[in-house]
Amino acid sequence: MEATILNNTKVDYPKEKALFDLFNESAQAYPDKIAISFHDRSLTYTEVANTANRIAALLVQKGIKKGDIIGLALDRTPEMIISLLAIMKSGAAYVPLDPEYPKDRIEFMLEDSSAKILITSAKYAGHYAANTTEVLIEQALAESAELVPEQPNTGVTGANLAYILYTSGSTGKPKGVQIAHHSLVNFILSCQKKPGITSADKTLAVATISFDIAGLDIYLPLSVGAELVLADSLTAKDGRAVLDIVRNQGITILQATPYTWRMMLEVDWDEKLPLKVFTGGEALAKDLAAKLIARSSEVWNLYGPTETTIYSIIKRVTDAEDVTIGWPVDNTQIYIVDEAMNSLTNGDIGEILIGGDGVSWGYLNREELTAEKFIDNPFSNIPGDKIYRTGDLGKLRPDGEVVCLGRIDHQVKVRGYRIELGEIEFHLGKQEDIKEAVVIAREDTPGYPRLVAYLLLKSGETGYASAQQLDAWQNALLAELPEYMVPDDFVLLDVIPSTPNGKIDRKALPKPDYSHIIRSDAYVAPRTSNEKLVADIWQEMMGLDKISMVDNFFQLGGRSLVAVKIMAKLEEKTGKRLPLATLFEHSTVEKLAARLDVNSELITWDSLVPIKPKGSKMPLYIVHGAGLNVLLFNALAMNMDDEQPVYGLQAKGINGIDEPLDVMEEIAANYVEEIINHDPVGPYAIAGYSLGGMIAYEMAKQMLALGKDVKMLAMFDTYADQTKVHTPPLKRTIKDAWFFVKQVAYTPILFIEDPKRTIEYKSREIGRRIAKVYKKAFPNKVKKKEGFAAYTDDIHEKSEMAQRNYLLTPVDIKIELFRAKKKTFYMDDFKNLGWLPFALKGVNVHDIPGEHNTIFAPPNDKQFARVLQECLDKAVK
Ligand code: AMP
Repeated sequence: MEATILNNTKVDYPKEKALFDLFNESAQAYPDKIAISFHDRSLTYTEVANTANRIAALLVQKGIKKGDIIGLALDRTPEMIISLLAIMKSGAAYVPLDPEYPKDRIEFMLEDSSAKILITSAKYAGHYAANTTEVLIEQALAESAELVPEQPNTGVTGANLAYILYTSGSTGKPKGVQIAHHSLVNFILSCQKKPGITSADKTLAVATISFDIAGLDIYLPLSVGAELVLADSLTAKDGRAVLDIVRNQGITILQATPYTWRMMLEVDWDEKLPLKVFTGGEALAKDLAAKLIARSSEVWNLYGPTETTIYSIIKRVTDAEDVTIGWPVDNTQIYIVDEAMNSLTNGDIGEILIGGDGVSWGYLNREELTAEKFIDNPFSNIPGDKIYRTGDLGKLRPDGEVVCLGRIDHQVKVRGYRIELGEIEFHLGKQEDIKEAVVIAREDTPGYPRLVAYLLLKSGETGYASAQQLDAWQNALLAELPEYMVPDDFVLLDVIPSTPNGKIDRKALPKPDYSHIIRSDAYVAPRTSNEKLVADIWQEMMGLDKISMVDNFFQLGGRSLVAVKIMAKLEEKTGKRLPLATLFEHSTVEKLAARLDVNSELITWDSLVPIKPKGSKMPLYIVHGAGLNVLLFNALAMNMDDEQPVYGLQAKGINGIDEPLDVMEEIAANYVEEIINHDPVGPYAIAGYSLGGMIAYEMAKQMLALGKDVKMLAMFDTYADQTKVHTPPLKRTIKDAWFFVKQVAYTPILFIEDPKRTIEYKSREIGRRIAKVYKKAFPNKVKKKEGFAAYTDDIHEKSEMAQRNYLLTPVDIKIELFRAKKKTFYMDDFKNLGWLPFALKGVNVHDIPGEHNTIFAPPNDKQFARVLQECLDKAVK
C-alpha cells in the first residue's frame, strides 16, 4: 500500500472562514428552524444567532480583542453553546472548563491561558480565584438585551485561534492544545460529507465541553441547519436516560464514547433504531461493534487526538470482525513510521503520525513538549509544515485502512477520558507517606476498566490501605485532579517489579484482590430485606464477595456503567425506577436501601435534599420546620424559575440511624457543613420555615463568621422566640403568665376572624399539652411508638430543647421575613415577628397568602414562589 494513495485527501475548502461563519450560513438559510432544544426550551437559529451576537458585542465593549482568551465554565444549558459562539464572534478563543473539575485545576487553566475574562453563572460567582474578570451569564444576557444583534466586526479568519483545550499532562500539569478556526472548518466540512449529516437530522449532544469531541456535537449540526438536542450533565451520564431521549425524540445521530454506548446497551436496548452511531475517543471492541451494528442504521468508528482537531481517521464499520479506524478525513495525511521515521507501508507496526490541516499550533507555553510532539514533516516539501506524533501504535493494511493497536507511552483511556498516568503518579508522589507510586489502568473484567495505584510507603507497610489512608489520598487527589483520574484501588507493595534493564515492569504488577476491598474499617452486615437486596445486587454487579452497609459505591470503584446496571436490576426486582442520580446522592448500601424503603419519589434521608437541583441561579437552601422533612417545599420549588435550584435541609436522625442533635449551634453547624461541602464558595441564600428559621439564623451567623457571602437570609413565618432559660425563675413565671393573659385575651379576635380554624388550632394545642403532662406523669403507661414515628418524636423533642436553650444575639444581616397573612396564634410582635433587635441591617417584610401551616399549599404556593423569586433575584444584584 502506498502512503500517497492513502493520503490522497486534498480537497478545496474555504480556509479563510471562521468556524462561526458555518453557523451564520445555517442561520441565514434556516432562520426559523429549531437550532437547540433543551428540556422544554427550543431556540431557533435566529434566536441563537442574535443572542450570540449581542453577547459578542458586549464582550467587545468589555475590551475583548482578536486573539484574546476567554474561559467558559457553565453548566450544560443552551447558554453554554451560545456563549461558545459569542466568544469566537468577539474575536477571542475559548478555554472550555467543566465546572465539575477541581477548582485548582480550573484556576491553573485560567492562569496558564492568560484568560482575560471568565464567563460563568451566578452559581459559580467568585468561585475561581484568578487574574480574570468574571462575567456572569445572567448579567451578560440582561446587559446585552438592548444591544443591536449584529456580529462585531473583528476580522477573525480561519488563521486565528478558536479554542485551547487542556488535556492531561504526564509531568503533573494539564497542557493546552491550541486549535485554529480553519482546522475546525476543514473537519466539519469533511464530516458533512462523511459520515454525513443534513438539515433534517436531529442530533443529541452528550460530550462534556472539556473533551474536544464536543466540537462535533455542537458545530456539526449547527453547520447544516440540523436540530441539536442538548443533554444536561446528569442525563449525559445515565445510559438509560440517553436511550430514552434517542427513542422518544427521534434522534438520528448520536456521538458517544464506547463506554456510553455500553451503558446504553446495559438497559433494554434490543430494537433497531434509525440512528447513525458515531463512536469515538477510544478503541471500538468487536463485541460492541456487533451489538451496535445490529441496533442502528450505521456505525462509524472515529479516531483522532485532540492535537489534530477532533477526529482524523474514520471508518464506517459494517462487519464487527473488521474493525479498523479506516481512512483520513479531508486534507489529512497519515504515516506509520519506525523509530528512524521511515514510512512503513508494508503492514509493519509503527507509530501513527498525522499531518495536514487539522494539526494544532502546539501546546500553549510548552515549547519543549511542542517540539517533541509536533515535528517537521519529513514527508512534506512545504517549509515549516508540522506533523504530529500521536504516540499510538498502528499499521497499514494492504487495502489502505489504518489499524490502531494501542499506545507506546503511559497515556490511557478510561471510560473515554484521556489520562496520563504520570500525572496521577506525580500527585501521589507528593503525599508525605508515599515513597513511590505507579498507576496503571487494568481491565480484569472486560468492559470495566479500573485505575489501580501501586504504592511503596515510607513506613514499609504492605497489603491494603486503611480507610483513613484511602480517604487522605483520595481527598488529596480530588483537590487537583478530576474525579475520573482518582484510582479505584490502592495496593501497597514492598517492591515495585522491574525489568532486567531496570525499568518498571508494569505487566508484572499483581492483580488486586478485589474481594478484599472493604473500604470502611468496620463491616456492617445487612439489617433489612432491602439492604440485603441492594448488597446482593452490588456484589453481583461489581464482582465483590462482601460489602459492608456503609461502604461507598464510588470508593468501591463503582462508575456509571455499573451504576446503570445496578439501577436496572433494582428496577427489575422492585418495580421502582430510581434516577441514576439517586445512587450518586445515596452512595452506600444503607442509604440506597433507605431510599427504596420509602414510596414517595422525593423523600431522601440525607440532610441535604436536592428538591430541584437544576438551574444556573444562586441555589436556595431551605431548612425544615417542625415537620422535619422537606417534601413540603416541593410545590414552592416547582413554582420558582426554571433556572432556580432549590435544596432542602432535613433533620439529622430522620433515617432512624443517626443520633438527632439537640443543640442549635450543632444543628446549624451540621447543615452549614453540608452546604459548604455541596458548594464550597457560594454566594449563599438560606431560608428556614418555622423552627427552621431559627436554625437558618444561626447558620447565617456561622457562615458569616467563616467569611462566607450570605446574600439572603429568609424566614418563612418564623417567630423570634427568645429563650427564657437565662431569665430568673420569678421573672420568667411573671412573663409567662402575662403572655398567657394576652394570648387568652386575643383568642376572641382570632375566633371572629376564623372560628373553625381557631377551634381546631386551640383544641390541637390543648390536646398536645394534656398529652405532654400525661406522658410526664405516667411514663410507663404511654405506648412506645415504633419506627419512623418514634424517631421523629425524638427529633421533635430534641429540636424543641435546642430552641429552648438557644440565645438569640444580634447579627449583622438583613432578614427577609415572609409573613403569613392570616394569624393563627397570638404574638407580641405581629409586625416583625420579633426579629428587629436581632437583624442589625433591618427586617424586610413580605406578606404571603395563607396561615402558618398553609403557606406552601396550593394556591398559596404560586404567589409565595413569585415573591420569593423576586427577592432572591434582587439579592444577587
Ligand atoms: P483525545 O485527545 O482525548 O481525543 O484522545 C486521543 C487518543 O484516544 C488517541 O491518540 C487514541 O489513543 C485514542 N483513540 C481515540 N479514538 C480512538 C478510536 N476510535 N480507536 C482507538 N483509539 C482511539
